[in-house]
Amino acid sequence: MELKICHLYPDVLNLYGDRGNILCMQKRLEWRGISCRVDQVRLGERKSLAGYDLFFIGGGQDFDQEILLEDLRRHKGPEIRAALADGGTFLCICGGYQMMGHDYETADGAKCEFLGAIDFHTAGGAKRMIGNYAYRLDEEDGAGTVVGFENHSGRTWLGSGVRPLGRVLKGYGNNGEDGTEGARFENAFCTYSHGPVLPKNPAFADLLIRTALLRRYGSCELDPLEDGFEQLAHDRVLRRIR
Ligand code: GLN
Repeated sequence: MELKICHLYPDVLNLYGDRGNILCMQKRLEWRGISCRVDQVRLGERKSLAGYDLFFIGGGQDFDQEILLEDLRRHKGPEIRAALADGGTFLCICGGYQMMGHDYETADGAKCEFLGAIDFHTAGGAKRMIGNYAYRLDEEDGAGTVVGFENHSGRTWLGSGVRPLGRVLKGYGNNGEDGTEGARFENAFCTYSHGPVLPKNPAFADLLIRTALLRRYGSCELDPLEDGFEQLAHDRVLRRIR
């Protein structure tokens, strides 16, 4: 068994060590004897995205997102939309999450036309939504709790046909108003959780891995791992946040 991971825009969208999510998935695959290949696809690079199982897009500031617009429109956009339609698994963080939606009007009034791969839109607000937060995953995804860190001024509003990744237990989530966090659509998992969110949320990491393996191989039995420390970290952070 092998899983092919594509890291999109590692040169531009790389806040808070988001890349740690890839290392986490790589390790959890390796520990189970499943090999993993990671390719980085950078700004301006033209490459077919067919054949990848899992895509990772990290977060970036408004400025970084604006730099990508042309490349998205001309090169990567159609490839990303096709990969999602083909059942590829996506983990998209904050700025990378916002890019999957229709558009983003920043607090300064700049209008970014994004991919429109998933039905939601984002609007900048005066107040940054920042801090440690927690949310409960949707029932369909196992309803575990996720602890993370958010920092965004964009407020995201989901369209019909898109469910939230989870419900906020503490913190802001998508917009600080409707109690939703992130977006779930097809095999895409979008979240405002920055930094390496997966190491302290091992069930979420395995959800992504399982989704990708299931689509590639048709079945997937993941051997349990010794997650004592990871679970301890998760529980402790959750207690502190709540
Ligand atoms: N530019 C976006 C916002 O502030 C995303 C920020 C981020 O990725 N941290 O809403």
